[in-house]
Amino acid sequence: MALFVHKYGGTSVGSPERIKNVAKNVIRARSRGDDIIVVVSAMSGETNRLVALAHEMHERPSTREMDVLLATGEQVTIALLSMALEAAGCPACSYTGGQVRILTDDAHTKARILDIDTDRIRSDLAAGRVVVVAGFQGITEAGDITTLGRGGSDTTAVALAAALKADECLIYTDVDGVYTTDPRIEPKARRLDRITFEEMLEMASLGSKVLQIRSVEFAGKYNVPLRVLSSFAAGPGTLITYEEASVEKPLISGIAFNRDEAKLTVKGVPDKPGVAYQILGPVAHANIEVDMIVQNVAEDATTDFTFTVHRNDYRKALDILQATCTALGAREVTGDDKIVKVSLVGVGMRSHAGIAARMFEALAREGINIRMISTSEIKISIVVDEKYLELAVRTLHEAFNLDREPDAV
Ligand code: ASP
Ligand code: MG
Repeated sequence: MALFVHKYGGTSVGSPERIKNVAKNVIRARSRGDDIIVVVSAMSGETNRLVALAHEMHERPSTREMDVLLATGEQVTIALLSMALEAAGCPACSYTGGQVRILTDDAHTKARILDIDTDRIRSDLAAGRVVVVAGFQGITEAGDITTLGRGGSDTTAVALAAALKADECLIYTDVDGVYTTDPRIEPKARRLDRITFEEMLEMASLGSKVLQIRSVEFAGKYNVPLRVLSSFAAGPGTLITYEEASVEKPLISGIAFNRDEAKLTVKGVPDKPGVAYQILGPVAHANIEVDMIVQNVAEDATTDFTFTVHRNDYRKALDILQATCTALGAREVTGDDKIVKVSLVGVGMRSHAGIAARMFEALAREGINIRMISTSEIKISIVVDEKYLELAVRTLHEAFNLDREPDAV
């Protein structure tokens, strides 16, 4: 007998009909003799509705009260799903995060899970019940309700799967898996049968938002096999797992991209120790996350220093840099908030040379100018003008034959 954690997102439980469908899916899975724990999100739109209500009461509501409010969305769904299961003859029992005792720290609205008490869940399973747990929430040592950040139900599911040593954690959502790239940009994008945790982290953080990033980190750390699949259409979905030596690795798994980028350059920076810190220190201090960083080779004792930030932080970063520029005696600050980042991702890259050349050749053929480049062991990222995003993604998808099932590389 196996143990599975199922997680159903907001759209999958978006209406009474859909909740009944989830119940059917759970019952079908259980009829194979397996134990099932179900984690659910709030019904679609509900969390946003609650956030809006809060802001009608207070411009900046306290995070503690925010958590008390937001946790109600999931509490509705667990009760409704348990009722639907019971109505269909399946014994079920629902729990809020606090009832399970999903213990978290007290960082309200972005709490981290510290410990999970599995006793009640285990005894329910032993008694033949399906256990339904509210995603996205926990409780502090002091007994305060917390939430785990938007999209946090994924993390609840993975954490439960880790704590219970489940055989697999199935994330049911409105897409049928992880794709080689966004099918809205490249209709020939293909569903991947499997992808490694590492690759998935790159795909997720670069904008292919299928899973909360933290849940993938968690799954990787505790080695919980994760499967993303559709709650509306049958199919195997995509298995996210560790890298197996025996499994054929495609050269490239996918192309991720991020539209919300901006870049800033300080020109004519004196080339001496401490300058990078003087430039980036104040930026970090303002809580602005920096992504790619490039410093040119110094010419005549000065250098240019470029980095990228989220587009929302562009103005703020520009203001900070103006001040730094004057203090440093640098020449000028320039910037561009009409840029995007496109990345080739694949663990197969590790053992193959020449990927970058093939990438740049394909882009050159289309006349796409590359503004910045950065690489890691399993990814090559480029920054290009916003207008080239679609063309760059399609060109690379084609150049690396991503529309075809990978054969031996
Ligand atoms: N309901 C929460 C949200 O909308 C958590 C989740 O759905 O995972 O962010
Ligand atoms: Mg979600």
